[in-house]
This record gives sequence, structure tokens and C-alpha cells, in this order.
Amino acid sequence: MRRGLKRVESKRSGEWNVQPVTAAGAVKAYLCPGCRGEVTPGVAHLVAWRADGLMGEQADLADRRHWHDHCWRIAP
Ligand SMILES: [Zn+2]
Repeated sequence: MRRGLKRVESKRSGEWNVQPVTAAGAVKAYLCPGCRGEVTPGVAHLVAWRADGLMGEQADLADRRHWHDHCWRIAP
């Protein structure tokens, strides 16, 4: 399995869909919005996108971001 189970998390900023990505599934580098650092390939992390967006699921999915686990936990 390259990806874990999707879940919904409530934060102060709203409701978010959260999809864990395993180390084996992390094949590209991404910029983490939390620390502005790189999410390195081969490192387990997560993908998050709004669950309460007004623009609809497709727009929210297109705007998804890859986060370090730690950065997501401390994000508002
Ligand atoms: Zn980060």
C-alpha cells in the first residue's frame, strides 16, 4: 500500500482531508507549507486539502499540499 487511509481532521482553520503517504509512496520532493522546507522523497508524510471549501472537491484537491507530519500537527 502506497497510501494510508484518508481521514478528516478539524483544526482552527477548518475541516481538512488528510491522506498519509508512506515512505515507499513518497517519490517526489514537495515544499512543505508549514516550514517552507522540502519534503524529501522516501520520507513518510501527509497530504492535506480542505474538506469545507466553497469551490468544491475538485478545486480543493487541485490545491492539496504535502506536509511533514510534525508541521501538520502544529499547524493551526
Ligand atoms: Zn515542514
